[in-house]
Amino acid sequence: MWNLLIQAPNEEFREVEFQPGVTSVGRSLFNTICIMDESATREHAKFTFDKENDLLFVIDLNSTNGTFVNGKMIKGSSRLEHEDIIRIGAHLLTVVKSDMQNKSQANDNWVQVKPVTRELMIESLDNYAVLLHEINERLNVFEDLKETLADVAELIRRLIGADNCQITTLEDLKTGVDSLPNTKIVIETIRENSAAISSFPLEDDAKNGNNETSSYGSVLSAPVTIDKEIVAVIYASRSTPGAKGFNHRDLSLIVGIISQVGLAIQRKQIEIELIYQASHDPVTGLPNRNMFMDHLRELIDISYGDSESQFSVIFIDIDNFKIINDSYGHLAGDELLRLISARCSKYISELSSETTTLEMARFGGDEFAILLSGEAGSQIASPIAEEILRLLDVPFEIAGQDVYATASIGITDSSMKYQQPEHVLRDADIAMYQAKESGKALYKVYDRAMHKKVLHKLRMSSGLRKAIDHEELVLYYQPIISVKHAVIVGFEALLRWNSPEMGLVYPEQIFNSSDSTSLLNSIDFWVLERACHQLADWHKSIPESNNLFMSVNLSTKQVRNPNLVDQVSHVLKSTNLNPKMLWLEITESNNIKDSKATLEMLTELRSQNVHLSLDDFGTGFSSLSYLPLLPIDSLKIDKSFIRRAGQSPDGDKIIKTIVTLSDNLNLLVVAEGVESLEQFNYVRKLNCDMAQGFYFSKPLIADDISTLLQTKPHWRPNPGKILQEREALPIDSRMY
Ligand code: C2E
Ligand code: CA
Ligand code: CA
Repeated sequence: MWNLLIQAPNEEFREVEFQPGVTSVGRSLFNTICIMDESATREHAKFTFDKENDLLFVIDLNSTNGTFVNGKMIKGSSRLEHEDIIRIGAHLLTVVKSDMQNKSQANDNWVQVKPVTRELMIESLDNYAVLLHEINERLNVFEDLKETLADVAELIRRLIGADNCQITTLEDLKTGVDSLPNTKIVIETIRENSAAISSFPLEDDAKNGNNETSSYGSVLSAPVTIDKEIVAVIYASRSTPGAKGFNHRDLSLIVGIISQVGLAIQRKQIEIELIYQASHDPVTGLPNRNMFMDHLRELIDISYGDSESQFSVIFIDIDNFKIINDSYGHLAGDELLRLISARCSKYISELSSETTTLEMARFGGDEFAILLSGEAGSQIASPIAEEILRLLDVPFEIAGQDVYATASIGITDSSMKYQQPEHVLRDADIAMYQAKESGKALYKVYDRAMHKKVLHKLRMSSGLRKAIDHEELVLYYQPIISVKHAVIVGFEALLRWNSPEMGLVYPEQIFNSSDSTSLLNSIDFWVLERACHQLADWHKSIPESNNLFMSVNLSTKQVRNPNLVDQVSHVLKSTNLNPKMLWLEITESNNIKDSKATLEMLTELRSQNVHLSLDDFGTGFSSLSYLPLLPIDSLKIDKSFIRRAGQSPDGDKIIKTIVTLSDNLNLLVVAEGVESLEQFNYVRKLNCDMAQGFYFSKPLIADDISTLLQTKPHWRPNPGKILQEREALPIDSRMY
């Protein structure tokens, strides 16, 4: 008869009798071991009892933690004898053949069940197996390397019966080799890169002059290597008087563990490296966005409870980095980022003090951020930003070339009572953007108005996207008058947006509210098409309006759009308009004279008989000398000159000169912004060809213009009437 005596921690001792056939050993849902228990969900091992031949086997079923027989892990099946001890997890199972030994005797030999599993195991027969198993488990999964190495050292100490055992990493050795009781052997181990045993006289005995009793201690030291490089040293000693010295067996036990310890250290090093990589930027080595945000979150938490503690964020964006990248190549771009980072980090590390901390991070692309905290957390941000701008003034040398970089900087700080790091960055970014908009290479400090502005812009821009489809865009038309004949000669199309939320939105706002090129392009094209169709309609429906022209403003983007010529031809074709009736207004500030492509395009348009007009003349980069070079037919004197008319002799002289010059160049002159009779008389005296302004009419919607053309015939271009009408003009001239 075969029995199994089952000992397990915290469980009462049991004895069961083997039945012929198979007895299963499994694991319950909670991973505890169950023997001969149907609640087991997974099989760990099984016993087979062949009653006929009186044979008992244990078979490990590829379990994760293994089945140990008398301290040895088995593979597959193992035949069992009387008094064999099997260990599965923390269970000790003793096989007893009842006809060989009586129970009580067997019982006496057992280790008493103790509550602490490890103690129980260590004292059990498979001491080594358990220790090695423990070491294994320790090294497999762990968080803290130091702690684990200390635990493993303790297990090794027990394994070889040492008084002291330590595993010290090379890093720690560099700083604290003195902490080891016998440093000589450790130094030797490192130099020779090999394990060694040696003995040393015990201090106490030496002091007692007790040399003859030859009381020596024994030390054992072994290098832990990865790819032949030493990463740690295992050091053990026996220093109890009269203790046996270490022997070859102890050494081989340790050598057996070394590679595992090495792998664990390596794994940890890789983990540390991975964590570093996850929190640092590979190009500059600076902390990355993740780490920055973590620190910012901590600071927000602190500043929340402690109103004294302040922080600021300085957000830096390199201007035109894309151009640098495109023209010098990506490697040079990376190098520039490294140089910028190095220059700025050096500066801010010099600024850091006990009371003020500065931390620089790279956010990816060409964005950097500095986190400033401590006493002066929010006062010194601006001077720092200024200094950074100055630092960037000095060129960077890349591959022997001087490369210039400027930055736009946005600042915000804890006075805004932030609760989330994302909001801090959002605002620093808004401020940075404002700096960019105001001309780059400068810094801006965030304020609430900025936020409002940005929100407003966002709302506008998203509303504008739908404006064309929802037919919310409208053109207003302002009559342009022939000064000499006092009749309408054409219109200027002026854009309005009938926004459901904001009411009538004027062009400046419309064009400022979006940076989306595609959106702006479609608006530009819509204006061109709508204005031409409207004019064609009038030409058809009111015969006398046949000679009226339509003046359309071209945006900055439009005059740089290579498709403009095609678009214009397309529209002219589809409306069947005489190209002469289409006037295109370009503004001086577009700097058209500097762009060869634009000049060529304008020349091309003009050669198709489209009329080109220089708008807002006198503002921007006026230079009379380049006027003859531009492919234009007319110019519009800016309303600021008309407003000052007759008020300063200098202003008057300018207008006179412009008109004379235009005459010489065969350019027509339009006076803009004529608001009063005096102003009208003034432009009349100057011999301007045309005038436009509130004095004649405000910009009107198409229906009102139709009514005007139909009901006020004296405004129509009817040459026969011109002279009489002209006398009457000043009295009842207002069209509307
Ligand atoms: P602009 O080309 O100088 O257009 C004339 C502006 O002066 C118009 O303003 C018009 O309403 C205003 N105005 C007309 N008569 C008088 C007057 O007697 N006194 C005063 N003080 N102002 C007068 P608006 O419509 O607000 O347009 C502003 C600017 O927006 C235009 O200036 C033009 O540069 C641009 N713009 C207007 N519509 C379009 C468009 O469809 N496309 C493009 N690209 N720009 C447009
Ligand atoms: Ca205009
Ligand atoms: Ca104008």
